[in-house]
Amino acid sequence: MMEQIKEIRSRILKVLKEYDSITIGTLGSHSALNILKGAKDEGLKTICLCRDKERIIYESFGVADRIIQLDDFSDLLNPDIQRQLVDENVVLIPHGSFNAYIGRLDNLVIPVFGNRILMEWEVDRERQRKWLFDAGLKLPETFEKPEDIDRLVIVKYPGAKGGKGYFLCSSPEEFYEKAERMVHAGLIGEDEIEDAYIQEYIVGANIYFSFFYSPVFERVELIAVDRRYESSVDGISRIPADVQLKGEIHPTYTVIGNFPVVLRESLLSQALQAAKSVVEVSKEIAEPGMVGPFCLESVFTEEGEMVVFEISARIVAGTNVGIPSSPYSYILFGENMYMGRRIARELKLARERNMLEELIY
Ligand code: AMP
Ligand code: AMP
Repeated sequence: MMEQIKEIRSRILKVLKEYDSITIGTLGSHSALNILKGAKDEGLKTICLCRDKERIIYESFGVADRIIQLDDFSDLLNPDIQRQLVDENVVLIPHGSFNAYIGRLDNLVIPVFGNRILMEWEVDRERQRKWLFDAGLKLPETFEKPEDIDRLVIVKYPGAKGGKGYFLCSSPEEFYEKAERMVHAGLIGEDEIEDAYIQEYIVGANIYFSFFYSPVFERVELIAVDRRYESSVDGISRIPADVQLKGEIHPTYTVIGNFPVVLRESLLSQALQAAKSVVEVSKEIAEPGMVGPFCLESVFTEEGEMVVFEISARIVAGTNVGIPSSPYSYILFGENMYMGRRIARELKLARERNMLEELIY
């Protein structure tokens, strides 16, 4: 395994050595406007790879110097497409759609920004849990099988599904009843129930922290904070309780958008400490550790305690609320700064300092 990782990396570094400039490339989806605009703000060239149905988005905003149309996102792995991108000195910026539509990136020869081993940890819930646990964070309990459910839980499925088909329940009977209903409604497949991930539901305020670990400055930066806008759970409060009950409404958690959040200042210490600990542990699990964006997804209880239920080891879409700046990135940089721009800035600084290789793993 280690040998294979080393082999892939040396192949990619050979490609990178030939580059005499940097073009930022990404899949047209998720946070591509953020990434491409950030690259333009830093004076870099941009390429967007998208399908016919997304073309209108990237043509409408003028952030892509070139659009390459794909039939499917996984066509990114085609040798011919890869060759075109390498010829244009592309560094790829991975985001949630890479997880959702492509998976492992081992067959890529194009340099990818960040630590791909940590991105693999992210998609494995057990490894993720170990990472957060070793960082000393407070986590929700998990339940191995539906029969163990003894309190309010949230039921999730493998992979980045954006909350589709998630449900709440508080007993084994309710689990099977609701799972059946979700399958019936076509929100999940029968096999997904077997792989369901059952987690204690934490009642509180949902907060997503987007951080950036900078190898150039050797520091953790808080870039933006958001919460989600989800269908249909966020619509339910607009319906009176008696109508809700009569209508048999069963809310789920499909993400539709995000809102910016500014945190009560005294609560920031927990988040900053958690981010530092997560970065420390990342060095032990995947050398050299975190590079670039990551997100801690949490709920703050009424006692003001931060409970972390997930980590993403790449840019998250919630960080889009921070364009052109969030209160935190503005305080830190004194200029407009947002995740896409921060990534491009790091690549530029690393290039000037001859440390580009330290951003590509
Ligand atoms: P998409 O290309 O829109 O299907 O997004 C790919 C994956 O990223 C989805 O499966 C979602 O899990 C996640 N995602 C996309 N947009 C958002 C968002 N605004 N907030 C949170 N997660 C998102
Ligand atoms: P996820 O796709 O895991 O980010 O979560 C989808 C939705 O469920 C979001 O609104 C989360 O805030 C919420 N959520 C996920 N896990 C928990 C939990 N353990 N306790 C409370 N809310 C959660």
